[in-house]
Amino acid sequence: MNAHVLGFPRMGANRELKWALEQFWRGEITETELVTTAAALKKQQWEIQAKAGMDLLPVGDFSLYDHILDTLVMLGAVPDRFERTDAQVPLETYFHLARGDAEKGIPAMEMTKWFDSNYHFIVPELTPDTPFKKNTSALLDDALAVKALGYSPKPVIVGPVTFLMLAKEFGGCNRWDHLERMTEIYGEIIAEIAPHSAWIQIDEPILCTDLPEEAKQAFQYAYPKLKAAANSARLLLTTYFGDLGDNLELATSLPVDGLHVDLVRGQAQLSEVVGALPSNFTLSLGLVDGRNVWKTDLAAAFTQLNITRQQVKRNRIMVASSCSLLHAPVDLASETQLAPELKQWMAFAVQKCDEIAALKQAALTGKAPALFHENTDALLARATHADVVDQTTRSRVKSITPKMYDRTSPFEERARQQRKRLNLPLFPTTTIGSFPQTAEIRQARLQFKKGQISEAEYIEKMQGHIADVVDRQEALGLDVLVHGEPERNDMVEYFGQQLNGFCFTSNGWVQSYGSRCVKPPIIYGDVSRPEKMTVDWALYAQSLTDKPMKGMLTGPVTILCWSFVRNDIPRDAVCRQIALAIRDEVVDLEEAGISIIQIDEAALREGMPIRKDQQEAYLRWAVDCFRLTAGGVKDITQIHSHMCYSEFNVIMQSIAEMDADVISIEASRSGMELLDAFNTYQYPAEIGPGVYDIHSPRVPGKDEIVSLLHKAVKVIPAQRLWVNPDCGLKTRAWPETMASLENMVQAAATLRKGH
Ligand code: GLN
Ligand code: ZN
Repeated sequence: MNAHVLGFPRMGANRELKWALEQFWRGEITETELVTTAAALKKQQWEIQAKAGMDLLPVGDFSLYDHILDTLVMLGAVPDRFERTDAQVPLETYFHLARGDAEKGIPAMEMTKWFDSNYHFIVPELTPDTPFKKNTSALLDDALAVKALGYSPKPVIVGPVTFLMLAKEFGGCNRWDHLERMTEIYGEIIAEIAPHSAWIQIDEPILCTDLPEEAKQAFQYAYPKLKAAANSARLLLTTYFGDLGDNLELATSLPVDGLHVDLVRGQAQLSEVVGALPSNFTLSLGLVDGRNVWKTDLAAAFTQLNITRQQVKRNRIMVASSCSLLHAPVDLASETQLAPELKQWMAFAVQKCDEIAALKQAALTGKAPALFHENTDALLARATHADVVDQTTRSRVKSITPKMYDRTSPFEERARQQRKRLNLPLFPTTTIGSFPQTAEIRQARLQFKKGQISEAEYIEKMQGHIADVVDRQEALGLDVLVHGEPERNDMVEYFGQQLNGFCFTSNGWVQSYGSRCVKPPIIYGDVSRPEKMTVDWALYAQSLTDKPMKGMLTGPVTILCWSFVRNDIPRDAVCRQIALAIRDEVVDLEEAGISIIQIDEAALREGMPIRKDQQEAYLRWAVDCFRLTAGGVKDITQIHSHMCYSEFNVIMQSIAEMDADVISIEASRSGMELLDAFNTYQYPAEIGPGVYDIHSPRVPGKDEIVSLLHKAVKVIPAQRLWVNPDCGLKTRAWPETMASLENMVQAAATLRKGH
């Protein structure tokens, strides 16, 4: 019985890879130094797994930027705007693909979310003439390095069908036209590493999604060829992020030697999988959650192992993580600030390896190892902890009435009352919330956190920044102002810190993309709001101006999606609790006299499940939670929402059902094309399509904005069109911010003249 993980976090316990990468990009260290750091990290990661008792050590899961980019480079499929070379893509080119070549003005490849996780991968670009040619990769060297350490390497490769399905087609390309040539290259790669590997892991998470017919055929075409190339090495087909569903038959019909299934997200599939498993297959059980921070319920996992053992010989069973541990923080041991009673409920990547080892040991000996006892105690402590179940919150959720999801009147009537109250001009101008987070602002927050300045001093400093942004906005002539969010380090953490049921790690980083890491809050207990969170800041800001000051909140779905969520109650139940807490804040802002309140739902689209048959249920409760948040205010209070770039087409109905009075979206990079979805759907309410990209310091010209707005009025009636940037301005500096907003305000004025 082999124990293994599908992949390990790359960054290092102290984000060593991040620091090395960024130093290298700044030219502070050499390529050799970067490669040396990477080699040391890989070695460390293998040693951790080996020490814990993992039998097969993944190689190829590590990456200097992203594993899909590595696959693309290994296959030689470099887009033609970059320099193509034979055999070896230089590191410089590799990073150009990922980050663009500023010198030559070549844009980076696009990034998008890895299934429904918060990890972003580089999207392969396919044109009819994309070349496929085997390039040198780290796979072979790493496999040899693991062997030299005395361990058994397990090369990890992203499978051909997942790769092709995630690629984007350009220039009239049909992705499947590349299958034949690409499979040959996969064969060459597999043949090269096979002599050094007992098992080769081929990741095909796409098998957990709804597959088009071509993809199914592609599996049937490619896998016999991969199998032939593998010779004596065995192929483990790995699936994760859900159950196989109707792809089970396909998966078990392929000529591979083993199948890995995700028994955390696809828990219910076990008996069906066991029933369908060919007798020569090994079954890898993904029992330990790779995407969360909680201890596994070892007794429950052991039950699943035993069910399997009744039908599958034990030398044909592997115990594993559900997916790569890439999505979990590295080591719980480095959490010194976390309350001990909370800490004992958790397991990060290092601890997850121990759990896998304990499960294997239990299965082999029939006796529960010590870790099982600790585990039972910890789980019991968690289940009975006073903060985990809060009766007040539970009964509040139970007593939610249908009316609480609805505003008093339909949009038309609300809009009439709001127009009267707010008296805004046509094409009202506003911003999305944050203004430049200067070094001064960040320093003040840090000083306060460290106790170096008093609360009174801190408030005074922050009020100074608020007063400054109010002055600037008045000078610019914006119509609806914001306070600028100087007191917020992050739009989710800021609220989590003020809500019951949240805790925070000091080192629980997970990779988001490249060298970027995030440190998600952890929701461990029932969520409630002990006190008002934003009202004082909003009131102070409003006191400085006669213009309407937008209250600024993060929505429940976004708070949920960007946190590690408890796994003892359903996600929608957690979301409803958060929604009630934010609803209270909305009502308090209204009572304090704030006339416009924005509830950001940046993550609504990305929280969508990958299986079509689960999407409707998700959208239902996600929209409900937003409505619950906004449903407590009077008609005259204007509710805004904001969403970053997403494919709106598929969720247009849900966006309309959110029933916000105004929604702002990121639209400038698509040249307002996004608005077509709103037009086609006949979106009834007001819209602020972003008129300039906030991701770069470039200042948009007034005429450029005017022409975008002309495009917008063609699809959205002038009476319902707002003028704003794509997103918050916190990553920008002041000079470009002022210049851009000045042009934006002038552009709005120009449009007003024409109407
Ligand atoms: N109000 C937030 C800001 O302006 C919104 C950020 C976001 O949508 N990601 O920063
Ligand atoms: Zn945004």
